[in-house]
Amino acid sequence: MKTSDVIIVGAGPAGSTCAASLKKSGFTVQLLDKQVFPRVKPCAGWVTPQVIEALGMDVSDYRRSNTWQPITGFRTGMIGGPMVDTDYHEAVSFGIRRIEFDEYLLKQSGVLCNHSPVRKIERANGQWVINESFIAPVVIGAGGHFCPISRYVRGNRDLRGSAAKSDAELDLPPPLVVYAKEVEFEMSSRQRCRNHIDPEKPELYFCRDLKGYGWCFRKGNFLNIGLGRIDKTDLSSHVQEFCDFVTSQRKRVDSLPPHFLGHAYQLYAETIPPLFDEGVLLIGDAAGLAYAQSGEGIRPAVESAMIAADVIANANGDYGHDSLSAYRTRLLDRLGPPKPYQTVNWLPVSWLETIAARLMVTRWFAQSVVVDNWFLHRQQAALIPFQESTRECVDCRFDREQARLTPAHLESTGKTKGRH
Ligand SMILES: Cc1cc2nc3c(=O)[nH]c(=O)nc-3n(C[C@H](O)[C@H](O)[C@H](O)COP(=O)(O)OP(=O)(O)OC[C@H]3O[C@@H](n4cnc5c(N)ncnc54)[C@H](O)[C@@H]3O)c2cc1C
Repeated sequence: MKTSDVIIVGAGPAGSTCAASLKKSGFTVQLLDKQVFPRVKPCAGWVTPQVIEALGMDVSDYRRSNTWQPITGFRTGMIGGPMVDTDYHEAVSFGIRRIEFDEYLLKQSGVLCNHSPVRKIERANGQWVINESFIAPVVIGAGGHFCPISRYVRGNRDLRGSAAKSDAELDLPPPLVVYAKEVEFEMSSRQRCRNHIDPEKPELYFCRDLKGYGWCFRKGNFLNIGLGRIDKTDLSSHVQEFCDFVTSQRKRVDSLPPHFLGHAYQLYAETIPPLFDEGVLLIGDAAGLAYAQSGEGIRPAVESAMIAADVIANANGDYGHDSLSAYRTRLLDRLGPPKPYQTVNWLPVSWLETIAARLMVTRWFAQSVVVDNWFLHRQQAALIPFQESTRECVDCRFDREQARLTPAHLESTGKTKGRH
């Protein structure tokens, strides 16, 4: 039996960020993943600058041996319709390959990952026992959409002993899940000449029924094409139609490999997902935190991981329900309450589709609403690492209690990293 302070299930961006943060705070961590890294993860591989800042990534070190694609604009529109170019003339996002990015974050965390698919979860005497091998008083579910810890918390039992009520019993709307398929491949020199996707400008094509979007994203010599929808009905035909559309456009995409990978993830919309219980916290996709409009999931995965690690560091060994409820409070403070996926639901669908198609081709809507607001989340600054904020605030002679205020408070009082 291996005993540690914390067990983290899943070594994606959420798990490795949380592991790194806990290690810095002096905790012993067992990190478990069912896959061996480097591992493939279906993802377009677009990250916002706030992620890089929150992680404190050394970009020059990263790009020495990994694909790093600055993005200076976007092309947006409806599938089959005219496209609008939004240019910033500076990098507003980056393209990475998840096979490289996730391995890099894991190495940077300094925590070894045990190759151990979680199959058995037990709880006895206030301790978690995973796979009859790993034991700890607190466990973090970071295993993505199909995380076994998340299923344990959500599904079958309330860890305090009373019967848990299902969402249907509580009259909650069903979770909003994106079903997506994508392919990423290295282009041959012939394909590079024939595929005219600007690497600095990913292309986003919204579905006419507004239930999702497709993308063409070139990262250096790699091309990533995919489509995600909040409705899994006929997903393959939607993906096929989208591919037919992009390959039919002369000079855009020449040909595509046939093997698309599929995956799913939950959006943070409509309802607050279960986030914690006695001795357990859920982070990243395991909690279902991806941004509703863009589907960006890496940023909320990293931010929820940082908050979870800080809550554990401040729990003084008390991992009871009341103590860990601070995670929910702080996460909601950061993300805001979940909003309805479609704010305008009183208009007939056909009207909505027509209005959306018209708006999408206006420059103002494409830049201010679609790119700045939905995709770049420019309105919210990066979350600064809590260890760092504590250090900085000590330097500035603010007391420790104040330094533990939520980032929203830090921002409102002007005590953010940039202003120190
Ligand atoms: C097609 C597609 C495109 C996307 N594009 C983007 C994008 O461009 N930008 C963006 O920000 N987000 C994107 N997302 C969302 C993003 O990929 C996720 O939100 C993000 O990966 C969440 O990170 P995570 O660490 O929570 O989970 P994951 O990255 O899924 O990591 C979970 C880890 O848990 C492990 N695991 C699972 N089950 C077990 C088990 N039983 N035992 C042990 N380990 C287990 C897995 O092997 C995995 O390594 C996309 C998603 C999809 C599906």
